[in-house]
Amino acid sequence: KMAAFPAEKRLEGFDYRHQTTITKRQVNALLDFQFIDERNNLVFIGPPGVGKTHLAIGIGYKAVEAGYRVLFRNALDLVEELELAEMKGELKKRVSQLAKYDLLIIDELGYLPMTRQARYNLFQLINSLYEYRSIILTTNKDFTSWGEFFHDDNVAVPIIDRVIHHSHIFMLGGESYRLKQKVTS
Ligand code: ADP
Ligand code: MG
Repeated sequence: KMAAFPAEKRLEGFDYRHQTTITKRQVNALLDFQFIDERNNLVFIGPPGVGKTHLAIGIGYKAVEAGYRVLFRNALDLVEELELAEMKGELKKRVSQLAKYDLLIIDELGYLPMTRQARYNLFQLINSLYEYRSIILTTNKDFTSWGEFFHDDNVAVPIIDRVIHHSHIFMLGGESYRLKQKVTS
């Protein structure tokens, strides 16, 4: 699959009448990809089912179509991938492979706790991408609970700091789309 997207989610299929905490205008404004050219990040924060992953993939497809190198990774898969590389003594190599992409989508960070080593590995990646590549991050955690999620250690603060610096942050709310489908069908 293109850019390893887990599903074919297109912006054309996104219903802004259901998700009203972000506007079509706001999303379309991102599609000149100035944020990638300027090495900025996008962060989508919100509860499950509000369309964070859909938007991330939809923007990702557009970026591919515009000629950017894009890679999608679920956060847990990414952490596991980095852990395997680290165990083989190849963390640096893997990080530089991941840094070849213009845009790395890290989906669903924060759903499960990470080990100290995993946080360290993630920091190595984030640090390599900082002001060099773009990240789209989706998370269910708002920034106030990130410290808790990362156990307030000395690795957490710089990760958060680097992702947030130069980023467009979108707080998404509303009802879960999955729930809506269940209720109306
Ligand atoms: P999240 O990542 O916020 O948990 P998803 O993006 O995975 O949510 O959305 C859950 C499901 O609902 C997906 O199948 C997605 O395509 C769909 N969905 C969510 N919001 C919308 C929307 N506003 N318009 C169309 N489909 C949506
Ligand atoms: Mg999601």
